[in-house]
Amino acid sequence: MLRKLFSRKNNTIQRPLSEGATALAVKFDPKLITPFIEKDIREFVLSFDEIPQGKQKIVIDAALESLKGGGGNSFVVFTALQAAGMEKKRSLVITDLIIKRSRWRVNTQRQTITGIFEAEWVWAGAPCITSNPPSPEEAEMSEQHKAANGRKFDIREGLLIDGKKQFPGLAYNCKCVSRIVLPF
Ligand SMILES: [Zn+2]
Repeated sequence: MLRKLFSRKNNTIQRPLSEGATALAVKFDPKLITPFIEKDIREFVLSFDEIPQGKQKIVIDAALESLKGGGGNSFVVFTALQAAGMEKKRSLVITDLIIKRSRWRVNTQRQTITGIFEAEWVWAGAPCITSNPPSPEEAEMSEQHKAANGRKFDIREGLLIDGKKQFPGLAYNCKCVSRIVLPF
């Protein structure tokens, strides 16, 4: 039943479209990559101190290249991290984080164009952890995300949790999603 009511797409629970509304489906437009998004992705890549200096640019370029495909090309990002000399397992994790962030930015950008700026944090009902037992950091994040359920936030800014602006579903292992809040 829930499956019929909501479809999960890129961590956003989308309200069902009425019949005939399919024409609203948006094709990806490279113009959606605004300076705001570019800056965000650049800063996000730079936030990984472990990417060797001098190699950061190839990763940033790959992340921006991936954005042109709607933020879905993980291969190009992973390859860049490998070329930057990063270890394989860690490259996969960072690729996942970059891709999720890119998709969030592209999707929420579409929403802001249509006048939607607010969303509600939705706890998925399962802990945001994968390791067993979870690390103290994981366990703490999971509890904080559970407590964030139902809180509203600006989709451009994120929700302030533990002194840090966070987005649902973007942290590694995070299963949280969001529900858009219609402005009318
Ligand atoms: Zn979470």
